[in-house]
Amino acid sequence: MVLESRQTTVAYRCPQCGAGVMSVVGLFNLNADMVKLKCDCGESAMTLVYSNDKDSPKVRISVPCVLCPNPHIYTVSSSIFFKDDLFLLPCPYSDINIAVTGETNKVKAELARSELELLELLPTQTKRTEEMDKFQQFSTPPSIAYLANYTANVNKNDIMLEPSAGIGGIAVFAKKDGATVYVNELDNRRLEVLKNL
Ligand SMILES: [Zn+2]
Ligand SMILES: [Zn+2]
Repeated sequence: MVLESRQTTVAYRCPQCGAGVMSVVGLFNLNADMVKLKCDCGESAMTLVYSNDKDSPKVRISVPCVLCPNPHIYTVSSSIFFKDDLFLLPCPYSDINIAVTGETNKVKAELARSELELLELLPTQTKRTEEMDKFQQFSTPPSIAYLANYTANVNKNDIMLEPSAGIGGIAVFAKKDGATVYVNELDNRRLEVLKNL
């Protein structure tokens, strides 16, 4: 039998500033109270709560998502949480990992890797429809859209114009950051989707 380690490293990526936020979490602290992991920018936090269930102790983790307006909640068994292996928590609506637990160096490496992944993701378009060709439509991948808004440092004092908005893949991030957003779209079908932004 392999003994569980009593601490692990957790990390998430701050949706507001894009920084990787990392900390060591010990069973002792977790058992005593809720652990809150805050980004230095003060705009986001990940929370961890331990439930000392006799048969299967668990950790409930709330992670802010880089893509979604609300955090995602995960329940992870304590034995997996305190294992040295990397454990990735993906956003259920995309394949992007938004948090990671495990041994410190592995977590660090994963943070670096995921940042590169965001930077190196190249847009690919293999399936085209007639509508897409006629209106020269191109949907920006969510990770690229996020990165564009992050790089532009969009905030609530900004006014953003998206002249070919599509279904709002780029504009949604500016809106999430509180900017006033103006959109334009030629295609009626996409315009209807946009109205829900
Ligand atoms: Zn931050
Ligand atoms: Zn998400």
